[in-house]
Formats: sequence, structure tokens, C-alpha cells
Amino acid sequence: MICQNCKGNGYIRVSWEAEKSIEQCKVCNSQGETKESLHYHQSWDDGAGSPTIYYGPPLDVEGDEGFKNYKIYPIESNINNS
Ligand SMILES: [Zn+2]
Repeated sequence: MICQNCKGNGYIRVSWEAEKSIEQCKVCNSQGETKESLHYHQSWDDGAGSPTIYYGPPLDVEGDEGFKNYKIYPIESNINNS
């Protein structure tokens, strides 16, 4: 599954005023792909003004109008630390 955070690039171009920089993608650890065996926090707007939050395998949102402002978040690496 292509990482929707970096669109498969493994990095993100960040523009801040005149400055441009490149950040490594933390969602896929610069791999460009999300793993369907892993669970990610994801959120989007369903188009009716209600934000939707989902935790599970990465969704295939490519070209799907039902997923507005779709975001996928990096996996928390310290969940099972205790
Ligand atoms: Zn990525």
C-alpha cells in the first residue's frame, strides 16, 4: 500500500515561507509504503462536516471522494513500553 503521507516518496517536501526543506516520512519510515499488517491512526472528513477517526490497517483512499483531508499518522513506538 502506497504511503498516503508521502505519496510513496519516502520523504515530504516542506515549504515554510521561502524556506524549502525535505523531511523523512515518519509514517512509513522512509519506505514509501505502509504495511497492511500494522495498525495506524488515520483521520478524514466524511464530507458532512464530521471528522472521522480510525485505527487499523492503512485504508486505500486513492481517488476516493469520501476521504477528504485524509491523514495517516506515524505509529507510536512506545505503546507497549510498560
Ligand atoms: Zn511515507
